[in-house]
Amino acid sequence: MGVLDYLRGFRVTFDKLFEERVTTEYPEEKSPKPDRLHGRHVLNRYEDGMEKCIGCELCAGVCPAKCIYVRGQDNPLDEPVSPGERFGYIYEINYLRCIHCDLCVEACPTQAITETKLFEFSFTNRSDAIYTKDELLVGDDGLPQNLPWEDWRPGEDVATSAWMRATSPAGDADYVGTVGWSGELGYGVRAPEVGQFGEDPEPPAAEVDPVDEGGHH
Ligand code: SF4
Ligand code: SF4
Repeated sequence: MGVLDYLRGFRVTFDKLFEERVTTEYPEEKSPKPDRLHGRHVLNRYEDGMEKCIGCELCAGVCPAKCIYVRGQDNPLDEPVSPGERFGYIYEINYLRCIHCDLCVEACPTQAITETKLFEFSFTNRSDAIYTKDELLVGDDGLPQNLPWEDWRPGEDVATSAWMRATSPAGDADYVGTVGWSGELGYGVRAPEVGQFGEDPEPPAAEVDPVDEGGHH
């Protein structure tokens, strides 16, 4: 390798010094998170403050990591916690096991549980990794609580993944643009998500397998 080759190499390095950086100095600086990022959960409340969870345990049943523990209880008649018969009396999620698949969100019949975009949280012992109902429940402003061991920054997107159920849970194109989501404390009725087809509500035509065209399978 000649001297000229070395100089060419140094020139590449020198040129890069003046180019705009594409990297982010994390954790000093955070990049905006994608709309569909799955972070730590919240338990939502209706616009009147009542809890959405009815303690049905469907989320716990569907969870592949078996990290949700729920117990329902009858609502006190004089001071109901949720509309209807029962409410989530105990609600816990073990974040040492959760894989943030959002299946609990899909399963919930009342849209009580959704996920925020926060994944920056850490613990020093196992019991702290189990979030309790008090920690998961949104505050009186309808927003996730900023717990001391979580790294929330000003200006961060605090919206939860309500978009996920704002349109059809089954992803049926007929429901794109249709709100299937009850009003929520701090948000009201959420706007529907545009869906995976962007601005165009029409899904691309399904590809037809020539073998299937004649009705053969
Ligand atoms: S996101 Fe998935 S793994 Fe985590 S609690 Fe929900 S169902 Fe379980
Ligand atoms: S979060 Fe939803 S699925 Fe889970 S117990 Fe409450 S109402 Fe049922």
